[in-house]
Amino acid sequence: MNDPILENLNPSQLQAVKTTEGYVRVIAGAGSGKTKALTSRFAYIVDRLGINSSNILCVTFTNKAAQEMKKRVKALIGDTYDLAFITTYHGFCVRFLREEINKIHFPKNFIILDAEDQKSILRDIFNELQINSKHLTFKQVLRFISKQKSTSNYLGYILENKGFEPDPSDSLSSRIFQIYLDKLKRNYALDFDDLIHFTAFILDHNPDVLLKWQQNLHYIQVDEAQDSSENQFHLVEILSRVHQNLFLVGDPDQTIYEWRGAKPEYLVEFDSMFPDTQTIIMNRNYRSTPNILKIGNHIIKNNTVRVDKDMITDKPEGFEVVHFHGKNDFEESQWIASEIKEILQAEQAAYSDITILYRSNHLSRNIEQALIKDNIPYSIFGGIRFFERKEIKDVLSLLRLIVQGDNFSFLRMHNHPARGLGKKFLERLSLLAGEQNLSLLQALERNITDKELAKKGAVEFLELIAELRETAKTKSISDLVKIILDKSGLSELYRKDGDEDRLENIKELVNSMLLLEKENNAPVDIIEYLQEISLYTDLNTDTENQDKVKLMTIHISKGLEFPYVFLCGFTEGVLPSALSVKERRARAIEEERRLMYVAVTRAEKRFYMTDSEGFNFTTGLNKYPSRFLFEIKDEFYVRKGKLSQQIIENSRNHQSPGQLQENTAFKEGDFVMHPVWNKGKIQTVDLEKKEYLVDFFDMGKVKPIDFGFKHLTGFSE
Ligand code: ATP
Ligand code: MG
Repeated sequence: MNDPILENLNPSQLQAVKTTEGYVRVIAGAGSGKTKALTSRFAYIVDRLGINSSNILCVTFTNKAAQEMKKRVKALIGDTYDLAFITTYHGFCVRFLREEINKIHFPKNFIILDAEDQKSILRDIFNELQINSKHLTFKQVLRFISKQKSTSNYLGYILENKGFEPDPSDSLSSRIFQIYLDKLKRNYALDFDDLIHFTAFILDHNPDVLLKWQQNLHYIQVDEAQDSSENQFHLVEILSRVHQNLFLVGDPDQTIYEWRGAKPEYLVEFDSMFPDTQTIIMNRNYRSTPNILKIGNHIIKNNTVRVDKDMITDKPEGFEVVHFHGKNDFEESQWIASEIKEILQAEQAAYSDITILYRSNHLSRNIEQALIKDNIPYSIFGGIRFFERKEIKDVLSLLRLIVQGDNFSFLRMHNHPARGLGKKFLERLSLLAGEQNLSLLQALERNITDKELAKKGAVEFLELIAELRETAKTKSISDLVKIILDKSGLSELYRKDGDEDRLENIKELVNSMLLLEKENNAPVDIIEYLQEISLYTDLNTDTENQDKVKLMTIHISKGLEFPYVFLCGFTEGVLPSALSVKERRARAIEEERRLMYVAVTRAEKRFYMTDSEGFNFTTGLNKYPSRFLFEIKDEFYVRKGKLSQQIIENSRNHQSPGQLQENTAFKEGDFVMHPVWNKGKIQTVDLEKKEYLVDFFDMGKVKPIDFGFKHLTGFSE
């Protein structure tokens, strides 16, 4: 029998495909063919039951995953069908609102705000209220807003001018929230959360609209159901009430959006809501080798809140999983680059078979540099290359302006942060520069008394450049950058911004310079540095589908699969994240462990975990391997690189609860830098007095430093 839809399905998958009516759920581990079953079921309903494809709603979580689903469905039934309802929750809501938003007197051409738009609104509000990241970060505010939206009656406020009371325990965030709502309301703008709330609101308040959509959607299927929030679940549930065909597919062990409201319990307790629910379990993994699977199974068992399930596979053992421990960042990324070459040769693989995963975006810097050095093409999924990020370009431009005085950098930085040097100023300056055959900076220096140029901002800018030039003569590049950030006002700008990703990227830049200095064992020549870095910035922009190594966060990789996977930055304070460690909530660590599980289970043939020593600027601590590494039995993987017994012991001690007290940013033996007393080493951590005793080298004395002293920073020796 040659049946493209049903062949190659195992009995559980066949059952899932053919059980089209009623409430059905599939709970199964990663790589067990859930998405395959769901896409085959979609094809089956269209092709065998003759249902119009636009009467089946099929939602998942990320755009990438929705694209992947469409691709698989097309492979089964061709591309003549309307597959617009294979989409994300947000995608569905946008389509719904385009048709129905007039019910709440919003125009059809309403504006949708993405994360960047939200940040720029917050930037305005922070300015208006004169607050900065010391008070609150964007991330904190956005989480607050998102949470308030799911618990308060903010729609009553927006749509019917009813009063509402945001959480009174956090008055500053509440104020920001209210201003934020007003701004959105005035512009008929909706953020991502609004898409779902507005949709639910219209459905709840317009029985005729609800009935129309319910009648229209004969079948509803949800992939990655463990990450659906209460509102999302409510949406598909009410939409399915007429035809009562709701199919949920998910893996509770892959819940990685609890922080954004995911409620895996809806999947787990679905049968108590709908007693005639049919449950299908799948436990055969088709994706990974036994060696990889073993790690996934093993890691996730450490979570206490879960339904136990083990995956099995018939595949041959495959390659051993590898852990590489580098002495520093360079070693880690260089090793990855050389291993990639090894894979290409040994396995006759393509670059695009290889994926590098990390916990957060700033970690790409290290990897990107090594790949570029080794001429390995790569692209970043859902992100911007490190050296093309705005804040990094700002700092490097100023650095370049100081040492090279070029026009590009001048144009970028002369009025950033704003110094009141507008268009007219620049026109006049350009004219003089042309006439006198000078660069813009030289022309400004020469003509600063010109009446159109002699502005306060211009004088200050020249003074800044002159001062920084002097500083550059004596300071190392990392120190210089810190001073640049301070004196230029950029640091303040980013802090005011509240966008902590920017601050993290900047710290990462300084970190990379410190490492370079250490590696060279000598000061780094600024011009050489800039030349080298320009190699990283002037690359052609990406086009899809090229043969390139893929870099992405673990969150983005969910639902996808790749033959060769590296998990880099497998470091305590990164994965698990510093925040989850600091919170010391078992729940937060469990979500991080699920992230690790998601990362491992993306791999088909080979899986690598890498970490390195050094200093973590986010946590202010020396780096140690992730606690999750020590949860994996030694015999389950091979170790490359030298991980000393000392480090193993230190990392274990480091994770003990006593060490995780709040405020102990440093521990005994850590090297620290003090703005006045320079370098030192933590001799004792006094938890009672809440202070460190620091041995300062220059001074030759031990001094107490309060835990709360913000300007003590760490560095690696
Ligand atoms: P995840 O939890 O990561 O989303 P999943 O359960 O959705 O995983 P799929 O992506 O559907 O898993 O399938 C994993 C891989 O196994 C895919 O490459 C798929 O083509 C393959 N596969 C699924 N079912 C079968 C089967 N019955 N026979 C052979 N290969 C299969
Ligand atoms: Mg899937």
